[in-house]
Amino acid sequence: MATGYPLTEPEPPPRCGGTGNVLRPRAVRHIGPWSRYDGVMAVDRVLLAEPRGFCAGVEKAIKALAWMVRVFEPPVYCYHEIVHNRHVVEQFRAQGVVFVDDIADVPPGAPVMLSAHGSAPEVVTAAREQGRVVVDAVCPLVTKVHHEMKVRARKGYTVLYVGHEGHEEAVGTMAVAPAAVRLLERVEDVEALDLGADGPVPVALLAQTTLSHDEWAGIVDRARDRFPDLWMPNRSDLCFATTNRQAALKALAGKADAVVVIGSENSSNTVALAQVAAAFGCPRVLRVNDVSEVPEDLSGTIGVTAGASAPESLVRAVVARLAPIHGVEIARVTVEEEYFPPPPELRELLRALEATVAFFAAAPDAPTAPGTSLAVDGSGRELTSAGVLSDDRSTAAAAVLERLAG
Ligand code: SF4
Repeated sequence: MATGYPLTEPEPPPRCGGTGNVLRPRAVRHIGPWSRYDGVMAVDRVLLAEPRGFCAGVEKAIKALAWMVRVFEPPVYCYHEIVHNRHVVEQFRAQGVVFVDDIADVPPGAPVMLSAHGSAPEVVTAAREQGRVVVDAVCPLVTKVHHEMKVRARKGYTVLYVGHEGHEEAVGTMAVAPAAVRLLERVEDVEALDLGADGPVPVALLAQTTLSHDEWAGIVDRARDRFPDLWMPNRSDLCFATTNRQAALKALAGKADAVVVIGSENSSNTVALAQVAAAFGCPRVLRVNDVSEVPEDLSGTIGVTAGASAPESLVRAVVARLAPIHGVEIARVTVEEEYFPPPPELRELLRALEATVAFFAAAPDAPTAPGTSLAVDGSGRELTSAGVLSDDRSTAAAAVLERLAG
């Protein structure tokens, strides 16, 4: 961010974490002048959506992979992109992480992390064979949908799954009960649905966590018409992060001459944000990977947001390039306080390593006193499992990425 980035706190927003809450967009608030400098665009003002960027699930996954990188000699393997963001993936590649799309490509015994999107049961099983160290970074909210899928299929339901064909989350979730599930991508798929020999059976509806709310709602309405006894979870499967980011964008989309959505094209929730901005009245919507893709002809009021896997550093660079003459206004709908602890396998792994280190350090001829240090990171800080576990909540994934890069 350019020096003097003029942010102040807007009025306290409502606390909201769940998908069932109704979010009332707060009025955006002017928060100060912007200092112009050479080489930037100087639009009139920027409306900055909040929440934006990293969600709790992405925070968890990035920090977990960073710990793997520190604890193990490279290469550490990761099944699928850890999160759908090109910059995050490239940063980990630079640290020796090898991303694979087939678990068979992981050599026996090599450490492997499974991505935040959730993996098919057979992939998890295969990964755990051959003595590999496996850490599953699946988001707990995806695990919840896997569980719903398993239970409904076991009870004899046909499960309609609203999602995007080929997306890792959809592939992993549908693999939980492949014989029971039918994929719906659009309203017309409900009309065309032929349950054939399966009908009449009870019908349930589940969803990918990162869809556009309106895209999902249209399909749900039609499915309810067709299947009056349709079973759905009490709360939609769209996660809090998806819902909150879309609500913040809705609050500003109609006031912006253009909206810049930062995130990768394979990021479902990023694509959903672009759809929301267009649906809520913004005449020009741009999905960019980073500042280098921001067109030079932007002017007037520009909305800015970022998908759940896009680092805040990319947002800062975009805002710095836009250099709004009349400052930046925050459009905040809620404060997210969700936190997901590290994957249990990682916690167990670090505890085991710590116990081993402590055992050898306690030997009479050990060069150091009994201690808990597992490793020393790039900045000389001792890495201990106690530190990992106790620091995790207050440690931001963005800071971890910066430390890795440094
Ligand atoms: S977008 Fe939602 S489901 Fe996906 S990782 Fe974030 S919190 Fe989890």
